[in-house]
Amino acid sequence: MAVPVARPATAGRSPQTDATTSQEALLGLFPPGTALGQDGELVIGGCPVTDLAEGFGTPALVVDEAALRSRARSYADGLAARWPNSRVAFASKAFPCTAVYRLLAEEGLSIDVAGGGELTLALAGGVDPASLVVHGNAKTEDELRMAVEAGAGLIVIDNFDDVDRLERIVTDEQPVLVRVTPGIRPDTHAAVSTGQEGAKFGLTLPQAREAIARLRASSRLRLDGVHVHIGSQILDTEPFARAVEAVAGLGTFAVYDLGGGLGTRYTYEDHPPAVGEYLDTLVAAAHRTLPADAQIIIEPGRSMVAEAGVTLYRVATVKRGEPTFVAVDGGMGDNLEVALYGQRFEATVATRVGGGEPYHLVGRHCESGDLLSAGVPLRDPRPGDLIAVPVTGAYCFSLSNNYNGALRSPVVFCRDGEARAVVRRETYGDLLRRDRP
Ligand SMILES: *Cc1c(COP(=O)(O)O)cnc(C)c1O
Repeated sequence: MAVPVARPATAGRSPQTDATTSQEALLGLFPPGTALGQDGELVIGGCPVTDLAEGFGTPALVVDEAALRSRARSYADGLAARWPNSRVAFASKAFPCTAVYRLLAEEGLSIDVAGGGELTLALAGGVDPASLVVHGNAKTEDELRMAVEAGAGLIVIDNFDDVDRLERIVTDEQPVLVRVTPGIRPDTHAAVSTGQEGAKFGLTLPQAREAIARLRASSRLRLDGVHVHIGSQILDTEPFARAVEAVAGLGTFAVYDLGGGLGTRYTYEDHPPAVGEYLDTLVAAAHRTLPADAQIIIEPGRSMVAEAGVTLYRVATVKRGEPTFVAVDGGMGDNLEVALYGQRFEATVATRVGGGEPYHLVGRHCESGDLLSAGVPLRDPRPGDLIAVPVTGAYCFSLSNNYNGALRSPVVFCRDGEARAVVRRETYGDLLRRDRP
């Protein structure tokens, strides 16, 4: 059995147990306000995790509603304070369910959608179409028609076919932006770098100039400005400033959409810039290079929602050996971030938080790559225990899948001790519903 070991006292440092230090460090990765209950279990949004697991089953994606709202406010207020003529558009692919659309729209955010599905969800979530920014590097004619008919505020031109199609579809007037690939490669996983030379997104600077000239001559497409998005999980601010400078060189516009991409703290070693620090850099670059009366849009996705989410699993089996595997009832069906980008996640037994020995926390899917966290310290994990993995609010829901016939997890909103499923768990009936034997 793994027992927390007292760390030897070192000079100038008070002796602390691993359990205590790692408890604090771990809680720091959970949504702000997460506490330990009397018996030591995690309490998220006022809801003890054992109650959540009993009420909604596992795996479950739990969202602390207050944490999500407070993050939305810090973005919206932070940008408005620094550049009043501005909008924050949530990049909804990071968490596209109607409750999230509704909540963030209530907080006054605009919404980014890519494709007809996210557009449909956003409208169902009560989002004002005028606040929509429509993206996609391969928009179909049908999707563009849907966006125009819905009254989408801005459509982002990614290629010349977008221009041709919109010229055919738009009868009145449609505001558009041109997406530019600035040739910037931030320090992030190649799969989520989007603004480097050779990226499939947007237009190179010379192509963008050509598109701008064409759109300026269009009678129905109204060119409002330019857009840039260089990637995701970016942990320093400098590439964002370079991206602003790159689009500034394209001319004077009413709107500059500066994209998203701010990194999130997944592990103890991650130290992403705070929202304020990121906005300081972006707005300083804007003051240096953009027209003072322009509107700035930013599009945070991951950093808006990641921290508010926690996934709860139940341990199915502990297989002792070298290494010892703790296998849970979910995995790459509900968290593809590990397999796709090698993202590191921390984890804890939800009723014995912190401390413990390192284990390989693995999922239930038929691949060795179905690893949730390698060598993650867990305190005495046993079958039936609840495991909590923090920072799963971004991209886990959107990338969830039915691998091995897994039923996709519910999304449970928690606030002031009340919990409600805003997305229910799939059923075996759901699996059969589209199937025509
Ligand atoms: C994905 C995406 C974002 C959001 O990126 P995050 O890293 O999640 O903040 C913003 N804009 C566009 C165009 C995107 O594709």
